[in-house]
Amino acid sequence: MVLEQQGVGHGASGRNGGFCEATLTHGLANGLRHFPAEIEELERLGKENFRGLVAFVAEHAIACDLEQTALLEVATTVAQAAELQEDLAVRRQRGEAVTWLDRDQVQDHLRSPILHGGLRTTGGSALVDPARLARGLSRVATEWGAEIFEQTPVERIIGGGSRIELPTPAGTVRARRVVLATNAYSGRLLRRLRRHFVPVYDYVLVSEPLTPAQRERVGWARREGVADRGNHFHYFRLTADDRILWGGYDAVYHYGGRVGPAFDHRPETYRRLERQFRTMFPQLQDLRFSHRWGGPIASTTRFTCAFGSAFGGRLVYALGYTGLGVVATRFAARVLGDRLLDPASPVLRLQFVRRSPVPFPPEPLRTAALALVQGAMTRADRRGRRGVLLSTLDRLGIGFDS
Ligand SMILES: Cc1cc2nc3c(=O)[nH]c(=O)nc-3n(C[C@H](O)[C@H](O)[C@H](O)COP(=O)(O)OP(=O)(O)OC[C@H]3O[C@@H](n4cnc5c(N)ncnc54)[C@H](O)[C@@H]3O)c2cc1C
Repeated sequence: MVLEQQGVGHGASGRNGGFCEATLTHGLANGLRHFPAEIEELERLGKENFRGLVAFVAEHAIACDLEQTALLEVATTVAQAAELQEDLAVRRQRGEAVTWLDRDQVQDHLRSPILHGGLRTTGGSALVDPARLARGLSRVATEWGAEIFEQTPVERIIGGGSRIELPTPAGTVRARRVVLATNAYSGRLLRRLRRHFVPVYDYVLVSEPLTPAQRERVGWARREGVADRGNHFHYFRLTADDRILWGGYDAVYHYGGRVGPAFDHRPETYRRLERQFRTMFPQLQDLRFSHRWGGPIASTTRFTCAFGSAFGGRLVYALGYTGLGVVATRFAARVLGDRLLDPASPVLRLQFVRRSPVPFPPEPLRTAALALVQGAMTRADRRGRRGVLLSTLDRLGIGFDS
């Protein structure tokens, strides 16, 4: 039985950029930093999980415009180009199919006057329409016997008795086992989870479909998903009907970790994103944006999800996929399923699953710390070097990201 406060895909799963990445660790470099002893296994599990999602979509004819495209990470400054080249060596060593594109070569993939180069990686990425994916998954779950109750908010979790009680406006559900999959919304239902993550709002613009002439001006024949290498970064892609989705940069935290519809739109961020888009693609001054929205991302200090349990193991949770949850949630579902049904499963022995991330400090320190880190990120993007605060956090293996 699934209890959903609004409709399927109401949360980040229906609003994201649709980048599907095989990594479970928010990239190889971050995985090496946090789980060096397990990185090979995590990379293998990530690829298996990614292939599993692609196969599942095909097998169940989920119409979600899944396109297996390469990932293009681009540099808009000399410093970003140097960082990408550092990555290149590590990723090649680990067997990734990654190619460096210099200033001229990158233009063959994507035309923009501000690009200094890029890394193109094939084999572990795809693009989807995320809302259609969420609806398709719910259709298959229903065919398999799941009952999905929409417009049914869980008001609180009561765990004292033999069953966990979940009161909703339509009545109380009593369950022997519960999976809490409320990600950025989790702090409301289980206060203790607040220390594990910060909900930050991320926003996107979607353009009108490009005309053939506009498509010609931008190139992009191979339809890669693209992200720049800034600390405040943009991600952008073509949709199946040739619109451009352009998102990222701001990651907006609200005091106390508040989430809700009041934060779903932010005109100031939309204006900034549009300005930045026009700098990236000055040849598309005539392109208009027809859709704009935002949603909450749950970020942990290590940028990978946190697993745990409550009420003597009868409730399990996973949250905090940071900006890469479309595919990682599938792996998390496997972990949570194993915790409840197959406690001997080897994936449960991974440090990745067992170790909690370093907690965020409580308020008001949390807001102050995030403001400090975001300020340092803005300065680092301007100056082209990380600065003392970010370098220290890097060494400690903690941070903040969308
Ligand atoms: C703008 C944006 C862009 C992103 N881009 C990407 C991307 O390109 N690639 C990528 O991999 N990831 C991306 N992400 C992150 C990704 O979307 C998330 O990590 C992932 O969708 C999390 O899935 P989830 O099921 O854990 O959480 P959600 O999809 O947020 O689902 C949680 C659900 O719980 C429900 N809920 C909450 N409280 C209650 C309650 N009390 N009772 C009942 N139901 C409740 C909510 O309504 C919601 O539907 C992006 C996120 C955002 C916001």
